[in-house]
Amino acid sequence: MTGDLITFLRAQIIESRQHILELRKLTAEDQGLTEPWTPEGFDPVMVDLDAKQQIIDLHEPIEGEWGPVCAVCHTTGADGDRKGEYPCTTLRLLALPYADHPAYRQEWKP
Ligand SMILES: [Zn+2]
Repeated sequence: MTGDLITFLRAQIIESRQHILELRKLTAEDQGLTEPWTPEGFDPVMVDLDAKQQIIDLHEPIEGEWGPVCAVCHTTGADGDRKGEYPCTTLRLLALPYADHPAYRQEWKP
């Protein structure tokens, strides 16, 4: 099921968030750093993850003429039927950085 791409992407974002939250708990000494440790340095990464989550939420599947289509990227024909591929190119591109992940499917490549 190509629809599993959304589940896969959400899992990667959750995992990344958890990793950052764990890193924020570490002290500079824990990491062997001699420079002051600023866990706020991860704030832009968290904002980036939040933005990706919002993009994923926008590109949820909706019912199309021949199956699920993207809520944003689908086209509507003169007959009113929704057409398009799912997952859409936007979701496929969001997943591309995880192409080396064991659960990534080659069929998701844009
Ligand atoms: Zn889309």
